[in-house]
Amino acid sequence: MRWSHYYIPTLREAPRDAEVPSHRLLVKAGFIRKVASGIYDGLPLGLRTIRKVENIIREEMNRAGAVEVSMPLTIPADLWKETGRWDAYGKELLRFKDRSDRWFCLGPTHEEVVVDLVRKDVRSYRDLPLIIYQIGPKFRDEIRPRFGLMRAREFSMKDAYSFDVDEKGLEDSYRRMFDAYVRIFKRCGLEFQPVEAETGAIGGHFSHEFMVIAETGEDLIMYCQKCGYAANRERAERRRENASVHEEQRPLEKVHTPGKRTVEEVSAFLKVDKNRLLKTLIYKVDSGSLVMAVTAGLREINENKLTRFLGAERVELATAEEIENLTGAPVGFAGPVNMEGKVRIVCDYSVAEVVNGVTGANEEDHHFVNVNPGRDFAVKELADIAFAVSGDRCPRCENGVLMEKRGIEVGHTFKLGTKYSEPMECCFLDEEGNSRPMIMGCYGIGVGRTMAAAVEQNHDKDGIIWPVPLAPFEAVVILLNPTYPAQREVAEKVYSSLSGEGVDVIIDDRNERPGVKFKDSDLIGFPFHVIVGRKASEGMVEVKVRRTGERQDIPFQECTLRLKSMIENEKTVRE
Ligand code: ATP
Ligand code: MG
Repeated sequence: MRWSHYYIPTLREAPRDAEVPSHRLLVKAGFIRKVASGIYDGLPLGLRTIRKVENIIREEMNRAGAVEVSMPLTIPADLWKETGRWDAYGKELLRFKDRSDRWFCLGPTHEEVVVDLVRKDVRSYRDLPLIIYQIGPKFRDEIRPRFGLMRAREFSMKDAYSFDVDEKGLEDSYRRMFDAYVRIFKRCGLEFQPVEAETGAIGGHFSHEFMVIAETGEDLIMYCQKCGYAANRERAERRRENASVHEEQRPLEKVHTPGKRTVEEVSAFLKVDKNRLLKTLIYKVDSGSLVMAVTAGLREINENKLTRFLGAERVELATAEEIENLTGAPVGFAGPVNMEGKVRIVCDYSVAEVVNGVTGANEEDHHFVNVNPGRDFAVKELADIAFAVSGDRCPRCENGVLMEKRGIEVGHTFKLGTKYSEPMECCFLDEEGNSRPMIMGCYGIGVGRTMAAAVEQNHDKDGIIWPVPLAPFEAVVILLNPTYPAQREVAEKVYSSLSGEGVDVIIDDRNERPGVKFKDSDLIGFPFHVIVGRKASEGMVEVKVRRTGERQDIPFQECTLRLKSMIENEKTVRE
C-alpha cells in the first residue's frame, strides 16, 4: 500500500469527548470517525484491524466446528414476543414500524432469530450438536454510549449459539467455545483472563466473561493468586472470616441520633468506627414480601447474591412507605433488633464479626448501640450477600486472599439451557421418538471492543503499539526524502521485497517532513518501521521496533528476512 494514495487522516488533537486512550488514539490516528453518539465510520486502517480480529475469530470458530451464517439486523417483533423479551428488554432495544404498521427492532443479540432458524430445519437428535455463528452488526441503544468503540450503539459482534440434546452435550459445546476463546484472545496478542460472571439480560444459569486486563477497564475482577479463582466483582464469592474479635459485650442501649441516617453521619455523630455499623436495607422480593438485609459497615449489599440466596427472580429496594409500614420509622432508622417474626432477616457474613455494633432502632432519630448479633437479634440466615473486596478470603482455596484488578469485557459465554428453546418450541426427536427442547449455549465477542481493548493495553505517550496480529500493517517503510533517488530506490526495493514475501506493509512515500512521518507512524503504531534515509546511499536502512524503541542499522538486502523472523517471533510467542 502506498500512503500517498491511501486515506489516513491523522489529527493533531483528540476529540474533546474522548475520555480513554483507545478512543483518543483511534480517532487521532485515523482509524474511526464519529457519525453520531455511539455510531462510527471505520476508516481504512480501522477496517483492516477489524478484519484481522474477525479473521482470527472466524478461523477459530471454524476450527471448533461452528458454522457461519448471516442473520438480519432487522428483526420482526413477533419473534421477540414469543420469548417475552419484547416487553422485558427495555430501552436498549430500538423499535420501529415498517410502512405496513408492523413492529420491528434492531437486533441487540440474536437468540430469537437463531432459534427460529433452527426450529424450522433441525428435527432429529442426529442433527445435533450444532453450533451456529455470525459476525455482524448489533444495535443497542445504550444509555451512555462512550469510550468510542468500547461502548458503542452500533457495533460488530461475533455471536455463536450451540444446540445440544442434553446437559452433557452443552458441557462439551461450552468447553469447545471456551477453548476457542482462549485461542482467539491469545492469537490477538492480548493479556486476558476468563472470569466467572453474572448472567444479566440474556439469562441462563452459568457464564464466563473474557477480560482484557487494563487500568481503564469498566469491570472489576476479583482474583486469587494462589489458586487462580477469578470472577467479576458482580459475581465474586468470598469465604467467611475466622472470628477474631475478642471484646466484652456491653449492654444494649438506645441513643438519640437526630437526623443521622447514613453510615457516615451516624459513625461521625456517635464517634464509632464505621465497621461497627450494621447497615440495614429493606428489599421487596419478586414484587411481594419484604426482606431485611444486614451488612456491616462499609460492605455493600450485592443484589445478585441476595437474589440468588433467596431463590428469587429479582429484588428491589422497598419504598419509603413500605419501610415505614414495616419498621414504624422513616427511612434511615431501620435495624434488625426486635424485628424477629415481623420480617425475614438475612445477614451478611460480615455481621458475625461485629461486637458492640450500632443499628437503627426502628424509631425516628434513634439508634441502638452495643448491639451484639446473636444476643440482641437472632442470626438465623448468615450468608455471603455483600460484594467481595480486596483482602477477602478466597472462596475456593484454604489460605488464598482476593485481590482486584480492572478489565474490559471482550467476550462472554453463557449456558442458556432451555430458556429460549422452550418458549419458542425449538425441539428435536430423541432416539425414542420423544420431542424435547434443545439445550442451548450462547457465546459473544465484541469485535470493535476487542480492537479498542488492544489499544488500552498497548499504547504509550506517542500513540498505539499494535500487537502484530492486529496491526493494520505489520511494517511501514518510511521514505524520508522522496526527492533523493538513492533513498527512493532502496525504499522501493525494500517495499516490494516485503510485500512479495507476504508482509503486510505500507510505504510512506508522502511529500512530508521526516518529523511528520515519524510522528504519524508512531501514533498509528505499526509494529516495525524501516527508515530509509541518508545511509541509503551506502545500502543501509534503520529498523525500529515500535514497542521497545530499539533501533538497528542493517543492509537493506537483509531487511525482509529480519522483519519476517521478527514478525513470526511475535506471533508464535503469543500463540
Ligand atoms: P456490557 O456489560 O459491557 O454492557 P453485555 O453483558 O451487555 O456487556 P453481551 O450481551 O454479553 O454484553 O455481549 C457480548 C459482547 O459484545 C461483550 O462481551 C462485548 O465485547 C460486546 N459488547 C456489548 N455491548 C457493547 C457495546 N455497547 N459496544 C461494543 N461492544 C459491546
Ligand atoms: Mg450491556
